[in-house]
Amino acid sequence: MVFTNAIQNNIIMSNEIKSIHEFDLNLICEYYSAVDRQGPGSEEITLKALSFIEGLTDDSRIVDLGCGTGGQTMTLGKHAPGTITGIDIFERFINLFNAQAEKMNLNNRVKGVIGSMDNLSFKEEELDLIWSEGAIYNIGFERGLKEWRKYLKKDGYIAVSEASWFTESRPAEIEDFWMDAYPEIDTIPNNVAVMQKAGYVPVASFILPEYCWIENFFVPQEKARIAFLNKYKGNTAAEEFVANQVHEEKLYHKYKEYYGYVFYIGKKI
Ligand code: SAH
Repeated sequence: MVFTNAIQNNIIMSNEIKSIHEFDLNLICEYYSAVDRQGPGSEEITLKALSFIEGLTDDSRIVDLGCGTGGQTMTLGKHAPGTITGIDIFERFINLFNAQAEKMNLNNRVKGVIGSMDNLSFKEEELDLIWSEGAIYNIGFERGLKEWRKYLKKDGYIAVSEASWFTESRPAEIEDFWMDAYPEIDTIPNNVAVMQKAGYVPVASFILPEYCWIENFFVPQEKARIAFLNKYKGNTAAEEFVANQVHEEKLYHKYKEYYGYVFYIGKKI
């Protein structure tokens, strides 16, 4: 989610000085390229979500939107049949993605391409499964569910993870943080209702365990951060970016009973 904050901040800056915008995005990409995941998750959780998807065959067409460097896509590649296309706006991530697919001998079925989730070129009813971990917020949960639905075959599935509130109310500090970062964040029953209204039968929703954030998302960044800060000593943009990351991590530890990532799985009707 810090990913969005950083990008949003930079988009605002880009109105003023384009070169700073580009430089900062490169920095952010570099920072996240050093870790296996760009969002909270785990192999076990990807497989749990996959266990709700029925009817996949060798002919199935799967896409993973906002795939990043492909941590979860490789898990899908190992465990799901069919062809899988990962889509991300950052070339650097897609290059790492394709290198990983090749290393794992999955490159005949798993391929990364550069593209934007708000401008997809699939045909209507072409896809069997749309996957997106920690990335649908870039377009918005409701908009993503609605816009992507046309690409799915009837009875096709969507599986997305999204930051969600666990309680009806929460302390002001964390409420304010999220209202600034992603005001569309909502409770689990509200998100399930959004999914149903968008034309899917909600099949399952479950909370990602804390280790998906702590061990798999924050801890790897702590190591990467040291190298990154050494390299960019004195670079204000890099230092501010890292300070934001540290702030978000602290907030998670303080308020994790109030929010987290939730997987939502739906079937097109
Ligand atoms: N799914 C990965 C990455 C999540 S981070 C994981 O769970 O590890 C969010 C990802 O969305 C980043 O890789 C970012 O580059 C990508 N992204 C942001 N805006 C996008 C857009 N408009 N279209 C496609 N990908 C986008």
